Amino acid sequence: MSATDIPRQGETTSPSREGTGPPDVEGCVARLRASLPEGAVITDRQKLRTYECDGLSSHRSVPAVVVLPEDAEQVATTVATCSEHGVPFVARGSGTGLSAGALPRSDGVLVVTSRMRRILEVDIDNERAVVEPGVINLDVTKAAAPYGYYFAPDPSSQQVCSVGGNVAENSGGAHCLKYGFTTNHVLSMTVVTPDGATVELGGAARDAPGYDLLGAFVGSEGTLGVVTSITVRLLRQPERVRTLLAGFSSTDEAGEAVSAIIAAGVTPAAIEMMDELSIAAAEQAVRCGYPEGAGAVLIVELDGPEAEVEHTFTEVRRYCTERGAFEVRSAADEAERALIWKGRKSAFAAVGRISPDYIVQDGVIPRTALPEVLRRIAELSARSGVRVANVFHAGDGNLHPLVLFDSSVPGASERAEEVSGAILDLCVEHGGSITGEHGVGADKVRYMGRMFTPQDLDTMQYVRCAFDPAGMCNPGKVFPTPRLCGEVPGPRRGAHPLAEAGLADEF
Ligand SMILES: Cc1cc2nc3c(=O)[nH]c(=O)nc-3n(C[C@H](O)[C@H](O)[C@H](O)COP(=O)(O)OP(=O)(O)OC[C@H]3O[C@@H](n4cnc5c(N)ncnc54)[C@H](O)[C@@H]3O)c2cc1C
Repeated sequence: MSATDIPRQGETTSPSREGTGPPDVEGCVARLRASLPEGAVITDRQKLRTYECDGLSSHRSVPAVVVLPEDAEQVATTVATCSEHGVPFVARGSGTGLSAGALPRSDGVLVVTSRMRRILEVDIDNERAVVEPGVINLDVTKAAAPYGYYFAPDPSSQQVCSVGGNVAENSGGAHCLKYGFTTNHVLSMTVVTPDGATVELGGAARDAPGYDLLGAFVGSEGTLGVVTSITVRLLRQPERVRTLLAGFSSTDEAGEAVSAIIAAGVTPAAIEMMDELSIAAAEQAVRCGYPEGAGAVLIVELDGPEAEVEHTFTEVRRYCTERGAFEVRSAADEAERALIWKGRKSAFAAVGRISPDYIVQDGVIPRTALPEVLRRIAELSARSGVRVANVFHAGDGNLHPLVLFDSSVPGASERAEEVSGAILDLCVEHGGSITGEHGVGADKVRYMGRMFTPQDLDTMQYVRCAFDPAGMCNPGKVFPTPRLCGEVPGPRRGAHPLAEAGLADEF
């Protein structure tokens, strides 16, 4: 099977599990109803439709069953029951993912963590908190704020996305330039493995001996098990935060300012860039008051000790002006800062004002390739007649091109998909990645072969098979080529211990 043969939307039935027959969904439901509290198991078709997609609504599949566990024990019961009945399962947090990672299986169970929203502990002395997986990202900061602390990972969806989803996607946000992604803020986790066992990954000590399974789990997109509690790091709120908005006539100029700032050894908490089209969309949506006539804006935020921030702020201002900024503004108070960020944070939804449909793309390039890649995107756009708005975390080269189209025009969706794929090719060609923070999910499995060799993919598959030899946990995501766990091709095949132990099964 080649990458292009991979089942896409609607095709979400299980691979045949050799020798074990099809999933026994009926038996699984009966057992779940007997073991879980009333109302925890949903099979009503109308109610199930609520869960048919995540934030990427072009992929849809109604699950056979939804389970709403209230605690870790109920998650373990659910997963063990699925395992016994050969039923695939998918975890879901808030469903804001943009890569169809939480796309359900039409013959499987969707384990939704929305009833697991307890903050179990805020331990300020040790600068950490323990939370259930359904806890909303921003609620961690709200719980820590009275003590002068916060949770650093700040995806733009932080008012609704769950910490469990953040862990699975290794989510980032504007401030990840300085503070790192979710993986840098998770100390330990309790996880239910695909056979229903409960294990602890990581621990109180910074560098636990043995393999870094915590590191392997964060970013594994729900394919290695279900997280039931997470110990996260809390950071002390900085003494001073300053936010600057600079207007440039082109993205080239703004890109040069970014390079100058980083080359000077300054590490801002965030540097975000928006191009002309995304500025126009944000203006229409939230009236953020960005500089009129700008071909690009930069938002630069500095934080840390007051004296250092004030000094660096003056330098950053100068770099922007020297590289052509025609207007540089600094937020005078929290309200102005919030308005500057509102424009950026609303950008994805805002493009709905200027286009009936759009694809939110997510790719990474080395920062130095920014001007070249932006020029190539503009050429692609001009050649195809497909408009592309650009919003990005400029400091770490994470692009979010928004590919605009009107699905009521024949052929428009296909053209937009082509441009979107070509942008990812550009990212790979320049030494970057097909995803920065939104994950591979079901949507980008078809691009994995463009970035990784078969040997690379086999090696990742070994890890997956070690956790989930029966291939029941979020199958069909991340990997482009379904293979038997004991059948990873290549020179190591004969030595695969799972094959020798007779544990091979289709993933
Ligand atoms: C407007 C908007 C802005 C966004 N901005 C950003 C951004 O700035 N940065 C960013 O990184 N992302 C962003 N996203 C994407 C998304 O919000 C993140 O990926 C987020 O972490 C997903 O969390 P969720 O709870 O919605 O997860 P879901 O969408 O429910 O699930 C995502 C994945 O996590 C798995 N999962 C969920 N819970 C568990 C669990 N308990 N155990 C194991 N696996 C689990 C699912 O199986 C799935 O694979 C944005 C999305 C939107 C709609």
